[in-house]
Amino acid sequence: MARHSDLQVHKIQAAVLRRRGGPLKIESLEMEGPRDDEILVRIVASGICHTDIGFVDGWDKTDGPLVLGHEGAGVVEQVGKDVKGVRRGDHVVLSYQSCGRCRQCRSGHPTDCENFYEANFGFARLDGSNALQRNGVRGHFFGQSSFATYVLATERNIVKIPKKLNLEVLAPLGCGLQTGAGTVINSLEVPKGASIAVFGTGAVGLAAVMAARIVRANPIIGVDIKSKRLKLAKELGATHVIDNRRGNTGPRITDITGGGVDYVVETSGDQKLYWLSMDVLNPGGTAAFLTGISGPDSLPEGRRTLSIIQGDAVPQVFIPKLITLYQAGQFPFDRLLKFYNFSEINKAIADSKRGATIKPVLRISEV
Ligand SMILES: [Zn+2]
Ligand SMILES: [Zn+2]
Repeated sequence: MARHSDLQVHKIQAAVLRRRGGPLKIESLEMEGPRDDEILVRIVASGICHTDIGFVDGWDKTDGPLVLGHEGAGVVEQVGKDVKGVRRGDHVVLSYQSCGRCRQCRSGHPTDCENFYEANFGFARLDGSNALQRNGVRGHFFGQSSFATYVLATERNIVKIPKKLNLEVLAPLGCGLQTGAGTVINSLEVPKGASIAVFGTGAVGLAAVMAARIVRANPIIGVDIKSKRLKLAKELGATHVIDNRRGNTGPRITDITGGGVDYVVETSGDQKLYWLSMDVLNPGGTAAFLTGISGPDSLPEGRRTLSIIQGDAVPQVFIPKLITLYQAGQFPFDRLLKFYNFSEINKAIADSKRGATIKPVLRISEV
């Protein structure tokens, strides 16, 4: 049996969070691995998601130094001896992690993994070990920590993609875009002709708008407070947009739908929109919350709420589907992207926070 202390050590560069609000600093670290079930991936690009920014702003001394990032894409550099699905040189998009052993994972529902929290937010492998321990830094965020030149992933959170596709463009599919599109297509199974309102038209919300157009929902109502994003929502499929700063979002939705709406996808995290999402529902309608919160236990007349994780997507099934839709021109998510060099990571985060950039993508190495 291989002793883990025999693992190779790789020199990597990673953006380390050591204080609340940042800035992240790019440091040289030593990473131990890969273990038998792990895959060493050289990161070409990584999206920045609101969850990363939430961790930067919520950081506490007791967290210790962390490496964030969970929308990586890159090239397989080395595989452990138990890895069968990919080999050195393969191109991969990374997604969330799941344990693969629990009842939910074994029945094909990794977003409901019983170890989801530990696997994605534990900043360690599931056995508690940490490949960056030599530096006193913790990684393994979403089974990746992709704000780095190299990461360790597993077969559970990689999706092999054809080499002719652009890794820089595909990087952000693994979290936010999958979540928005998966909510409409997988979780809600919005049927043709149903009405839908999307609250918050950032990357997740715009992915929901594009998916609503794909399933031919109608009307598709985008709600936000940034006119630039509302304009883009319209170009990407919203039939109507509402500027929530005007304070008449509820009555406008009633006007547009002639009553209520069948589905609301709430991505904004705004308290007033949270309550409004249930007020504007038709009887039997569903409000989906994508920010980790749940709705009240019961609502009248068959209305319901769902708290949705990663759009109930199995990455190896859903990401190739999104790529096919993208190639067919039906899911033009590349319009949301803005590219930054790795060294500009703090600027990319600042641009995202003030709404100037919808989906920042870091260029970390050359293909
Ligand atoms: Zn599991
Ligand atoms: Zn995310």
